[in-house]
Amino acid sequence: MKEYLEKLPQEIKYLIVLARRVSKETKMPAYLVGGFPRDLILGAKDWDLDITVEGNGIKFAENLAKRLNSGLIRHERFGTATLILGHRLKVDIATTRKEIYPFNASLPVVSPGSLRGDLLRRDFTINAMAVSISKGADQALIDIFGGKEDLAAGKIRVLHDLSFKDDPTRILRAIRFQQRYNFKIEPKTFRFLKEAIKLDLLNKVNPHRLRDELVLMFKEENPLKQLKQLCVLGGLSFISNKLQPGKPTYDLFKSVDKEILWFRQNFPSHRQFDAWLVYFAALLRPLTLVQGNKISQRLGLSKEEEKKIVSCCKINQRFIRRLKNKQAKPEQIFALLKPLSYEAIILLRSISQDSTFKKHIADFLMIYKGMRLCISGDDLHSLGILPGPRYQKILNKVLVARLNGRVKNRQEELALVRKIVK
Ligand code: ATP
Repeated sequence: MKEYLEKLPQEIKYLIVLARRVSKETKMPAYLVGGFPRDLILGAKDWDLDITVEGNGIKFAENLAKRLNSGLIRHERFGTATLILGHRLKVDIATTRKEIYPFNASLPVVSPGSLRGDLLRRDFTINAMAVSISKGADQALIDIFGGKEDLAAGKIRVLHDLSFKDDPTRILRAIRFQQRYNFKIEPKTFRFLKEAIKLDLLNKVNPHRLRDELVLMFKEENPLKQLKQLCVLGGLSFISNKLQPGKPTYDLFKSVDKEILWFRQNFPSHRQFDAWLVYFAALLRPLTLVQGNKISQRLGLSKEEEKKIVSCCKINQRFIRRLKNKQAKPEQIFALLKPLSYEAIILLRSISQDSTFKKHIADFLMIYKGMRLCISGDDLHSLGILPGPRYQKILNKVLVARLNGRVKNRQEELALVRKIVK
């Protein structure tokens, strides 16, 4: 472990040193668990720290937060806490616990437990290692299930025969890690996975948990690979029977890859958008608005996400034809695209390769979207125009003139207002 730990960025080493002090003083053994040991051995670059504590995770977190002078979010119900460190580093702290699943696909009954119990409740051997914070670096790795060997052999392996039955979301997780690392699902694990799919267990999972795993899949570097493997292994009937993706969806995903790249390169300073949502909307593309909406609601997407999906589902052939029209005027393009989210705009650009269509969307983003009038309602008031719905109509007319390049500055905008009210 020493050679791996030494390579960590300075800020993480510092955090571990502080955690070691807390562990010593509070006499609570602490471990780095989950993705951390796996990524440490694989030499990953992005770090999320999951610390689990034998004792009281929240007390441990409070102590550590004090030393780091950082904020803390407590989740009392779960005995966990998250440190707010103000940069990309995320640190979650929990208390070791064990889980029992009363029946297939149920929510687990959670109770305090030892480190072993905490590791045993995990999905795959590669995610069930721990790095002891309290011990010296040489003996720090705790690997009860052979995770390190499976990492080296590129194998996804469950910890026990009932793993997928207990929690069928692990089917999605197995695919996610398999595709991310180009690993193989070990033969016995593969048999268990196929059995769980055959029993249609994904259909019994709480939809919100499905949503979380689907989002993670579409956040991976290559969502198309994830989707294809999901279709090969089990299909998407757990989302909807109507979803049977084939070449058109796969092609759309490839096109979305390109458009996301185009958007990020050309508009690096634009507001962040949810790339996963563009893929998800692309997946729902063959469905009707009602069907798409139903799926969003069932999976428990947030209101904001639901709204974005609906706006993607609303993009119909008529809409596309209007944008392909070479004679479309700036104000028409503006009116069509202004109500759309960035996610919908990226999906839209992915739908057609028509050059006029693509140019109209690029023009909207580069020129029209940021266009602001120099005048406001106050100016209309100063010109003696009585406030009312008329204001919006006048300002819209001036904006159209601005988009067309007929007015270019404040003086010309005011002159146009005078002309309109005459
Ligand atoms: P990533 O690199 O995608 O963040 P991760 O392993 O950190 O990978 P998380 O989804 O954040 O993935 O989960 C953290 C850890 O929690 C996992 O490594 C695993 O040990 C455990 N875990 C998460 N989900 C499950 C599950 N459904 N069943 C069992 N263990 C799980």
